[in-house]
Amino acid sequence: MIKKLSRNDLCWCGSGEKYKKCHMEQDLLLMDMKRKGCQIPPRKLIKTEKQIDGIRRSSQLTCRILDMLEERVRAGVKTIEIDSWVHEATVKAGAYPAPLNYKGYPKSTCTSINNVICHGIPDETVLQEGDIVNIDVTCILDGYYGDASRMYMIGEVSDEARKLVEVARECLTLGIEQVKPFNRTGDIAYTIEQHANSHGFSTVQEFGGHGVGLEFHEEPFVPHYGKRDAGMVLVPNMVFTIEPMVNAGSHKCRILADRWTAVTVDNSLSAQWEHTVRVTGDGVEILSQL
Ligand SMILES: [Zn+2]
Repeated sequence: MIKKLSRNDLCWCGSGEKYKKCHMEQDLLLMDMKRKGCQIPPRKLIKTEKQIDGIRRSSQLTCRILDMLEERVRAGVKTIEIDSWVHEATVKAGAYPAPLNYKGYPKSTCTSINNVICHGIPDETVLQEGDIVNIDVTCILDGYYGDASRMYMIGEVSDEARKLVEVARECLTLGIEQVKPFNRTGDIAYTIEQHANSHGFSTVQEFGGHGVGLEFHEEPFVPHYGKRDAGMVLVPNMVFTIEPMVNAGSHKCRILADRWTAVTVDNSLSAQWEHTVRVTGDGVEILSQL
């Protein structure tokens, strides 16, 4: 608690409502959970309606860019070309690509092929028939961040690759279904890991989802492995990504000499899908879809 509000004070959230009609009940519940040892979200992670509108617009732009790629990404395309398309579409929409120059990252998108888990840097690599590639796009529109990624299958892919891509997508869907007030990040994590494991796959531990919206990476970290009833409590108007990275073999990764590209230690295939989501009053809104 930052300041003790009385029932008839205006709520801290800026809604203009009296505290007793706005966040008082939630705060009392959270204080009770905190006493029981739960990790509760700091108030700065609870977005205002205006901020959510902005994050939704940015996330929808990200979605449209990923849609645009569906028609273009195919065998013979260089990942650097994909990067140019994303960059141009982002700038044309009056936005900026968040990855560009982020902590020294050199490109506007990440293109992660086959055994690359994430943060593959677009270059002269040519997509080949049978490849699976994750393309990760984050737009900054009017100061708000919208983050999503998808898998693209190049021509005919192996049965194993197709299965991995499908299971990774199911992991995202099942993880999103765990998003509701007073569930915890651990519920998302557990559900995703169990589903991947049930198909003989593993989930990456070093990377995960994250708070997003006003910055590229905010609290909380959203793991894709672990136990139920652990991690931060979810409350309405928190915004974060869910982005399970599912490996066909070992969950372990190593980072290449470029200091970005994360690959599977055993060179097994890896697949990932990502959405930006918001906790609503009784469930979840996927912001990065139209
Ligand atoms: Zn309020």
